Order: sequence, then C-alpha cells, then structure tokens
Amino acid sequence: EEKERESLFTLTEFAKKFFINQLHNSEEGNLIGLSYFRERGYTKEIIEKFELGYSPKQWDVFAEYALKNGYTKELLEESGLVNFKEDNKKYDKFRERVMFPIYSFSGRALGFGGRILQNNVKAPKYLNSPENMIYHKSKTLYGLFQAKQHITKKDHCFLVEGYTDVLSLYQAGVQNVVASSGTALTVEQIRLIKRLTENITVMYDGDSAGIKASFRGIDMILEQELNVKVLLLPEGEDPDSFAKKHSATEIEEYIKDNATDFIRFKVNVLLDEAKDDPIKKAALIREIVKSISLIPNIIKREVYVTETSKLLQIREEVLFKELAQLQKSGD
Ligand code: ATP
Ligand code: MN
Ligand code: MN
Ligand code: MN
Repeated sequence: EEKERESLFTLTEFAKKFFINQLHNSEEGNLIGLSYFRERGYTKEIIEKFELGYSPKQWDVFAEYALKNGYTKELLEESGLVNFKEDNKKYDKFRERVMFPIYSFSGRALGFGGRILQNNVKAPKYLNSPENMIYHKSKTLYGLFQAKQHITKKDHCFLVEGYTDVLSLYQAGVQNVVASSGTALTVEQIRLIKRLTENITVMYDGDSAGIKASFRGIDMILEQELNVKVLLLPEGEDPDSFAKKHSATEIEEYIKDNATDFIRFKVNVLLDEAKDDPIKKAALIREIVKSISLIPNIIKREVYVTETSKLLQIREEVLFKELAQLQKSGD
C-alpha cells in the first residue's frame, strides 16, 4: 500500500511536469494555454510559482507518454488521470484545459484542477482529480503550500472560493491566501489553517447565495476557536475580478474598511432580511445565539452577547437565557 502511494506521488509529479512542459514548450500549449493565462492577466512569475500547465486536445497524449515511460495502466487508472474503456481505448481525463496542480502542506503534487478555456459550453468549467490514495479534496486547501509562510508572518489567513482568486490576490501582493475550491469548508481544512494562525477572513464571492452558503462554514470556524471576519466584495465581483481592477494599496484599504466581525456580519444580514417582522426577528435571534454558543471561550461569548444585545436592541438577559437553554439541550 505504501509503495502504491509512493508510485502515485511519482506519477502525479511526472504529470505536473508534463503539463508545465506542454504549456511552455508546445505550439498548442503556447497558442491556447499560455495566451489564456496572459489574457487573464497572470504574470510569468505567478504562472511559474504555481506551476500552471496545459493539457492538450488530443484524446490520449498524456496516457501514451506515461505508458511509454513505464507507468502501468493500473496506476494511471488509480490516479484518475486516464480512463480506460473496453478494448483498451484510453482517454486523458483533462483535455484542452489549463491545469492547476494541487499540493500537500509540504509541497508534493497530489492532483489537479483543470479549467475549460471557453465559458458557456456544456462541459463543467472545472474538473478535479478524483479522490484516490493521495488526494482527498476535503483535506486540502489550494494555495496553502505557497501561502503558508505568509500566513505565519502575517498571523492571518484569507479564505477564498477558487483557484483564480488565489492567483490574483497572490499576484497583487496578498499572499496569505488559500481556497476551499468550491466545496463546503471542512473541519480538516480549518485545522490546516489553525496550524499557522487563529485569524481568518472569509472573502467569498459577492452574491447573496455565496453569503448564505458561507454561514455554515463560518460556524465551523468558530467551533474550532478561530477568529473569523467576513469581507463582502462589491456585487458581482469575486476576489479575482476585484484584484484585477485595483492596486495593491486599494485592495488593502478595502480590506481594512470592510472586513467585519462574523457575528456582526450575520446579525446585519439577517436583520436586513427580517425587517420589522417579529416572527422572523425571533428566529434570527435564535440563529445568532446558536452561532455564539459554538464559541468555546466563555469570555468571547460574553463579549458577543453584549454586542448582539446592542445591535438587536434585546436585553442581555434574554440572550443569556436563550444561550443557557441551547447549552442545556446539548448541541
Ligand atoms: P474563474 O474565475 O476561472 O471563472 P472561479 O473560481 O471564479 O473561476 P466559481 O464559479 O466562482 O469559479 O467557482 C469557485 C470554485 O468552485 C472554482 O475555483 C472551482 O474550484 C470550483 N468549481 C466551479 N465550478 C466547478 C465545476 N463545474 N466542477 C467542480 N468544481 C467547480
Ligand atoms: Mn461563485
Ligand atoms: Mn468566482
Ligand atoms: Mn472568477
């Protein structure tokens, strides 16, 4: 088993180099892949730092190349990089896509994300390596390997949704940034960050769906005893598009002016929804108190109760009673 894992690591590294080589040294990779990255404004430095690549159009270029280099059919199948059909026809999983290698904490390539080049086609915009012996989506964060020293130095981590959000922020000088890659945040991912810092700012896409979806993930961050802020971007922007439009200083200013403590953020969003409806407001109070109850530290909990009491104009005793009830009923 351990030997098989090692072979998978070796194959993934081999594939990473193949995709990089295709991007820089093949005509197709240059014409299609590299110009795609250039059009999106990514510099040579960022392309190299994140070891971006290109997977060619033709059905089985990678499969052929890997087999020729002695990798077995079984290993290629296990990696998910090649699918074998009846009569041994083989298909590369990633075709005509730009490639984003995903690394472990210590910098070994585990798998890939691959982006389609045109928007608005039927195929999924991103494909990911499937789960295998070395790649577990729920236990990885895109960008963590490149960001970790910056997260430690700043004692702070930005959490975004996507690959390109990481690249653009990093390029703009915000280097303490990682992505959950679209999935709901997991406890394992939060623990990876917690090894480096206790301060997270969640910077999700500026649409209301994104906000609501982020609530659950953020409750989990609270449970892990981290401090969470939320940074809402202007409507229709994601960190990538936002970073492309602004200078490093403007981005810093925006973050400084707009990062909001999570509980305060949640109160405001829900309050805005409830308007003057007393039933909705009661539900909202329970919802907020539920979030507060997840905070393990008693002093922090108290501070939040005081703050929430002011924001909602509800007496503190009422909130404390609600809190006690939640804790009695046992999670
Ligand atoms: P881009 O800027 O290249 O369009 P994005 O990161 O803004 O990409 P979103 O649609 O905001 O794309 O999705 C956020 C993240 O969710 C992506 O970076 C990717 O990790 C994941 N994702 C998006 N679409 C898919 C998909 N069809 N299948 C799997 N994962 C996806
Ligand atoms: Mn989105
Ligand atoms: Mn996005
Ligand atoms: Mn985007």
